[in-house]
Amino acid sequence: MSLSFDPDTLPLPIGHFIDGRLIAADGTIDMRRPSDGKAYAGCPLAGDEIVDQAVESAKAALKTSNWAGVRPRERTKVLQAWADLIEAEAETLAKIEALSSTRPVGLLVAGDIAVTAEQIRFFAEFADKETSDLVPTDDKSFGMIMTEPYGVVGAIAPWNVPVATAAWKLGPALAAGNAVVLKPSEMTPFSTVYLAELAVRAGVPAGLINIVLGDGPTTGAAIAGHPDVAKVSFTGSTGAGAAIMANIARTGIKPMTLELGGKSPQIVFADADLERAASAIATSILANAGQACVAGSRLLVEESVAEAVTQAVAARMKNVRPGPTWDETSQYSPIISERQLSRIDGIVQAALAAGGDCLTGGGPIDREGYFYQPTLIANVDPSSPAVTEEIFGPVLTVQTFRDEEEALALADHPTYGLAAGLYTSDLSRTIRLSRQIQAGTIWINRYSRSRDHILPTGGYKRSGIGKDLGREAYLANRKSKSVLIGL
Ligand code: NAD
Repeated sequence: MSLSFDPDTLPLPIGHFIDGRLIAADGTIDMRRPSDGKAYAGCPLAGDEIVDQAVESAKAALKTSNWAGVRPRERTKVLQAWADLIEAEAETLAKIEALSSTRPVGLLVAGDIAVTAEQIRFFAEFADKETSDLVPTDDKSFGMIMTEPYGVVGAIAPWNVPVATAAWKLGPALAAGNAVVLKPSEMTPFSTVYLAELAVRAGVPAGLINIVLGDGPTTGAAIAGHPDVAKVSFTGSTGAGAAIMANIARTGIKPMTLELGGKSPQIVFADADLERAASAIATSILANAGQACVAGSRLLVEESVAEAVTQAVAARMKNVRPGPTWDETSQYSPIISERQLSRIDGIVQAALAAGGDCLTGGGPIDREGYFYQPTLIANVDPSSPAVTEEIFGPVLTVQTFRDEEEALALADHPTYGLAAGLYTSDLSRTIRLSRQIQAGTIWINRYSRSRDHILPTGGYKRSGIGKDLGREAYLANRKSKSVLIGL
């Protein structure tokens, strides 16, 4: 069956999802399809009242379902059933995702949607694996470290990988015994609503997952600052993460995890398998048209192989197949909005005006929608925003180095430390540099996260606090309590 679909007739679940029901609401936030720029729906805007309703629903569901108190294996089973239903409904979910987002439908079923189901299963398995620790004291007492869920977790997600990032939040929070109030991005909200509908259909008690739609300053702020939201999990830009920290500091003290922006280096040494490196580097900046937190957007290459590597990457960057996200043959993503398209172009034009050499790309693609040419800029001024700012677009800059010391100095971004790629065949260098590079994830001779749910992801510096994925994400959804019994 073809995955291609008619974007004008696809049914969308427009509304908040509270207590297991779709609450229809007027869409007031303008939404446009990135593939053709056409207005197609409005995103509802939840204010305090709707957020309160969602939090009350979460609290009531925790009580009536006894979600935190059931045998943990029951949580595992229900979440696994949800993962099965996500797979069974993958095509519908992929279409809803593709309509609003920048993700081509042909890449979604085996990509993000399969990953989403796997993530839910991965976290489901944690529920009954945790044990309390006994602590050695003396013969007159007995110590234990117990853990328990927080209660209602608030989650706020970005637009660039909507369903999979929602799963990063929902999987560990629910497996750990919490209920969730989640706000997807106002640009890509409906696939997350459908994901929650599937959860209820699979047997997740109504009210444990509540999805409220709206923007950051109104709805996101109401969730983060809500007195009954005990913990906040956020993925998005560093600026919004800082606003959420300030909000939490103002309205109450609570734990938060922040997965924020990046400006990740790709460091290539002359002893690397250069073809393999070029392929990984090009794939990293082409995937989702560079709209990935871990996009490897700064190519740092040893001088002696700079020409060869740059040419090999440029050749791959020229070879893309843009097309609407609802056409299953499309391989290259549009940019999320016209505003972001012109921001990307502004940064590129400034870099070129300051003397950068454009090796490929350099402007929007001449077609409907918001597509930008994969762009490679060499000899760029190191203080140019193309080198210093997260562009969140298909733009790669090239800088060269002579030795490890210079490579490390260039790699070290003053504010970001999300990820880095290192390409070398020298094992000692691999270990040495992995110790020194200041980033939360380092990929060696490859560059992608895809299905490594077991590895936690998170940033150094202003790229974030805490981790998503891995055991750490599960544990971040439980708080510990020390118990000391006098005998
Ligand atoms: P964004 O910060 O604009 O928005 C993210 C979410 O936060 C949205 O739901 C938005 O409505 C909400 N929001 C914005 N301001 C808020 C506020 N003051 N209070 C509460 N909520 C608020 O980011 P975006 O444009 O949606 O996503 C792109 C950014 O996300 C990039 O910087 C990217 O690097 C980052 N990102 C990071 C990771 C990671 O794992 N580190 C993953 C994906 C995306």
